[in-house]
Amino acid sequence: MSSSVPVDVDLALVGGGGAASLVLAALDRHGVRGLRVAVVDPVHRRGQDRTWAFWGHPGSDLDPLLSASWRQVEVVTPAARRVLELAPLRYAMLRSGPVYDQAAEAEKRLDVARVLAAVDAVHDDGDRVLIRTAGGPGVRAGWVLDSRPRPPARPGRTNWLQHFRGWWLAADTAVFDPDRAVLMDFRTPQPARGVSFGYLLPVSDRYALVEYTEFSPALLTGAGYDAALAGYRDRLGLDPARLAVREVENGVIPMTDGPFVARPSPRVVRLGTAGGATRPSTGFTFSAMYRQADQVARALAAGRPPVPAPAYPSRHRWMDAVALRALDRGSVGGPEFFDRLFDRNPPERVLRFLDGTTTPAEEFAVMSSTRLLPMVAATAGDAAHRLRDRLRPRRPVPPVPAAVRDGLPPAAQDVEP
Ligand SMILES: Cc1cc2nc3c(=O)[nH]c(=O)nc-3n(C[C@H](O)[C@H](O)[C@H](O)COP(=O)(O)OP(=O)(O)OC[C@H]3O[C@@H](n4cnc5c(N)ncnc54)[C@H](O)[C@@H]3O)c2cc1C
Repeated sequence: MSSSVPVDVDLALVGGGGAASLVLAALDRHGVRGLRVAVVDPVHRRGQDRTWAFWGHPGSDLDPLLSASWRQVEVVTPAARRVLELAPLRYAMLRSGPVYDQAAEAEKRLDVARVLAAVDAVHDDGDRVLIRTAGGPGVRAGWVLDSRPRPPARPGRTNWLQHFRGWWLAADTAVFDPDRAVLMDFRTPQPARGVSFGYLLPVSDRYALVEYTEFSPALLTGAGYDAALAGYRDRLGLDPARLAVREVENGVIPMTDGPFVARPSPRVVRLGTAGGATRPSTGFTFSAMYRQADQVARALAAGRPPVPAPAYPSRHRWMDAVALRALDRGSVGGPEFFDRLFDRNPPERVLRFLDGTTTPAEEFAVMSSTRLLPMVAATAGDAAHRLRDRLRPRRPVPPVPAAVRDGLPPAAQDVEP
């Protein structure tokens, strides 16, 4: 084939990270065959570059890939330690390596074309989509699933980041309880604006991921993450002399009520964080990506267009905007907010709420468990802000911050603990 002729396929995955890997696995699982598929990404993702934690029912095709799962998790505040029984759900840990491997296997079976190039532009004429790549002939596709990181279509009313660093710790004695994970531990020093917490995900009695996370407007320096993480390790009563840091994990995830457009043109669908799969109030993304990958594959298997349902119902995006606003304006304290949610609701309801799969009646119960006055004030503030936005000319969209694009706090890249 001449190098000036675009590769011609039925479906192109632009971006081959988490969302695309789950789509490839789902196409394979649903027996989609005979579809010409291409993945276009300058990087072929392999190995452990992130750890996904999520909850769900046991028994999915992910079970054999999990590093660990827990029926019990703890939520800790300075005032209380709550042990949550999650049944029928469970909290699970999935490292990226097995997900990328599963996608690579699916790629082979589906005979997928790999184009190792950055996509410059996507042009949809309503009939076919032309994907222009840097220095190559590009790809022409019937449908495009685009998961390249991008900012929201316009800045949100609240623009926070979830940013974190984790250490994989190996201990020389049994110091972790492998039957129980720590979901959120708010005994970390709280930032002036934002929320911080630590968490602990044990895979055995001697090996665990310990993370320090902030929901706030700005990143820390590398030394700042290390200091916060060392402080949390000490808070857990772990002796650094008996531990070795085996791996370091960094990440930045957008937490904003700015809109992520899921269907920018007739034959282009955005998936993953770029398509709005990141829950603004928590940064959790994995379950929505998995759900949408399954919907895409089912649709294609049935000969329908690969268009999933929105990642979250619009009422959830509105509730998230209100919660983010209340947290950002300081009218609700983060530890108090999450503590009340878990104190006044069955854990399963809260977790399904955070995944966007509750009914309106359950959502009313969840929202009623938060402190009412600040939430009413935040709701009114959000409505006023929306109105002002509608009346005002559009602000320009900022470029995607390098940190979010790469999933790494830039200040943290050069620092090893
Ligand atoms: C370290 C880390 C840990 C996380 N942990 C959790 C968790 O525990 N639970 C949870 O729910 N969520 C978590 N997330 C959030 C979310 O699940 C992940 O970010 C997930 O990988 C998002 O998938 P994605 O496909 O949207 O983006 P990515 O996986 O980042 O994939 C985007 C792809 O686009 C490619 N790309 C970029 N530019 C171009 C271009 N111009 N042309 C073509 N391709 C391009 C990139 O190379 C990349 O492969 C985490 C995120 C990070 C960074």
